[in-house]
Amino acid sequence: MSTGCRTSTASNRETAERHGWTVVHEYTDNDKSAAKADVVRDDFEAMLRALRAGELADGTAVQGVVIVAEDRLARRPGDYERFVEAITYQDGRVFADARGMKDLYSEDTESMGLFGAVISKMEVRKMQRRMRRSHRMRAQQGLPVGGTRPFGWKPDRLTLDPNEAPLVRQAILDLISGRSLHSITNEWRRKGVRTSLGNEWLTSSVKVTVRNARVCGWREINGELVRDPAGNPVVGQWEPIVTPDQWMAVKNIFDARRGHYIYRDGRVGQILASDFREPNYLLTGFLRCGRAKPDGSLCNAPLRVTHHKDCVQHIYLCPTKTVGGCGGVGRRGDMVDLFISEAVLAKLEEVQLAASAEPVEWTGKAEYDDAKSRLEELRVQWTAGNVTNELFFSVAPELEKRIARLRTEAQNFTAATQRRQVRSATDIAEIRRRWYLPEEEGGLPLTIKRSYIREALLAVIIYPAGKGRRKFNPDLLEPIWREG
Ligand SMILES: [Zn+2]
Repeated sequence: MSTGCRTSTASNRETAERHGWTVVHEYTDNDKSAAKADVVRDDFEAMLRALRAGELADGTAVQGVVIVAEDRLARRPGDYERFVEAITYQDGRVFADARGMKDLYSEDTESMGLFGAVISKMEVRKMQRRMRRSHRMRAQQGLPVGGTRPFGWKPDRLTLDPNEAPLVRQAILDLISGRSLHSITNEWRRKGVRTSLGNEWLTSSVKVTVRNARVCGWREINGELVRDPAGNPVVGQWEPIVTPDQWMAVKNIFDARRGHYIYRDGRVGQILASDFREPNYLLTGFLRCGRAKPDGSLCNAPLRVTHHKDCVQHIYLCPTKTVGGCGGVGRRGDMVDLFISEAVLAKLEEVQLAASAEPVEWTGKAEYDDAKSRLEELRVQWTAGNVTNELFFSVAPELEKRIARLRTEAQNFTAATQRRQVRSATDIAEIRRRWYLPEEEGGLPLTIKRSYIREALLAVIIYPAGKGRRKFNPDLLEPIWREG
């Protein structure tokens, strides 16, 4: 956390350090007589500029302000308003004086008393109103706030950018399908796509973009969705890029991941699973040798990729005995890739047909609605004086807890449903269409195809074809499908 600082005394630095913030710049203009209207306070103006921009001239991020109590932040009418306008230009700014950190969103007037040295209580209240209006109220009204232009929208922050929005949408759909952030980031970089500040994309910045509730029209402040009094997320006035269900599916993927690889069926893999470094071949890691050993058991060694000097195709081959295989099975890579691709596509179609036949509904809906209406009724009765404080405060927290739990349950259910149903018949047709196209022509990237394969099957056993060059026989490939 870095902050811009308002004075040169040691105490602001101590205050900042106490909160774990870093002082990135100190502004002083104590010597200027700011009460005179015609004096331009250079440092004050510079600080406002830094706050609006969110960074210093050298690009260092500014995320808040520390002032010392004896210093006077605002000395002329209008100063404090301009200061508030500047500090609230972005979300999540921090503020502290020598007495400690202040909550800019607090309803408590006294917590804002820091400005009180020069600003009357009335002015403080006006400022608070403005502060809340510029943030939470804007959020409640579904209005966009200031700051960096969000990638995907035009500078008005409402209308979709015709070039950027489809990228974000495709990235989200791809993530749901199991594509890695890494692969998406590489694609954006390859295409020369830049962030709204003109920088190169990093996996971290792509993640922030797709993970932001804004993409589905919702809004978060400090990681919490902004909700209306009934508990429903406030819908922003900007055009959404994806549906709330799709956003929740992506959010769940990241929430569950925490540094682990998540398979499409929900299994959590090792940190940086082998697929993190993307293999160059469709079936690397899936193929197993099916040659019988003298004792009758299968060799089962994972096949490797090799190339033969008079063959343009890659070859899947059982490694030699010295590295754990039998060296007795090899097969033309292009033919194996083709037949397994067809088998997996057929499986996706089959699963989609089966899924579309079963209706899905969350079973907790009645309980959720019931708890919400009971809480509402309790509030009404309490407000009317028909319920004692004791009863209200013993029952209301329980109900609130239950509502929160059910809400999470509902979201998880929706996300799970989304993951299951993300592929309609149209989606599957699209997957099939893109499967064999080169990536430059809109074909599916290898990682995506591999994630579909991983979702459908555990392994493919390749049985020996006998000596010599034989006609390719698909019956000697045995896919081991996942259950369910
Ligand atoms: Zn073998």
